[in-house]
Amino acid sequence: LHAKGLRKVYGSKGHTYTAVQDIELDIHKGEFVGIMGPSGAGKSTLLNILSTIDSPTSGTLHVNGKRIHQLKDEELSNFRRDKLGFIFQDFNLLDTLTVKENISLPLALANVASREIESRVKEVAAIFGIERILNNYPYEISGGQQQRTATARAIITKPSLIFADEPTGSLDSKSAFNLLQTLTHLNVQEQATILMVTHDAYAASFCSRVLFIKDGAIYTEIRKGEKNRKI
Ligand code: ADP
Ligand code: ADP
Repeated sequence: LHAKGLRKVYGSKGHTYTAVQDIELDIHKGEFVGIMGPSGAGKSTLLNILSTIDSPTSGTLHVNGKRIHQLKDEELSNFRRDKLGFIFQDFNLLDTLTVKENISLPLALANVASREIESRVKEVAAIFGIERILNNYPYEISGGQQQRTATARAIITKPSLIFADEPTGSLDSKSAFNLLQTLTHLNVQEQATILMVTHDAYAASFCSRVLFIKDGAIYTEIRKGEKNRKI
């Protein structure tokens, strides 16, 4: 992932607010990167731009060698579907679908054969320990189970890049540990690249590198095993 001069300005004439600015960033395959900083610093805005969900006001973003904001809508949708996984704090589970149907959705949308879907659902359900709630609806399960369901859905396509916004924000410490352990497993075993916004120093301790954001800009970063480095 290669970002150059990213900037995001909200509002229009006279009432503008620069939420993100001067972002120069390279993230290599297999990194587990945390994004920290005070509330309102621009973390979510930056993550949304890097995850291709939002467009920058200026600057360029390449992911897997593709210049994202030059892709046609359909190309971008296919790229997201095939390569990217999203984990958000509000789980975005569909209430009219069961846990199993929610988890299957990305594969169903990609026209994967139902036998393959069955076996992948089994696989991720086992990872997250949610085998017994597959036929429940989201409103029937706990917050931690909803988070695990959402995470299972995010990784069922085996994304090469995973974006997570405060994924442990609403979890108790045991569920948070399980989630972080799963992300670490995907990072180490599957070489998934992970970007995670977090307030939580414990969550950040799982990252190989943490970016600190203030007033919309990266002001420092720390790599595991390295001393604090000013940019
Ligand atoms: P963080 O995730 O670090 O809390 P955000 O990226 O959510 O910060 O927000 C950064 C700043 O941009 C905040 O001041 C916020 O109010 C503003 N902002 C975020 N989204 C919008 C929007 N859609 N329209 C206008 N301002 C926004
Ligand atoms: P489509 O063209 O099929 O509607 P989108 O471009 O809207 O596809 O989204 C592609 C994928 O990106 C979706 O599967 C979805 O999981 C994810 N995505 C896009 N926007 C958001 C969002 N705001 N919140 C969570 N996930 C999103």
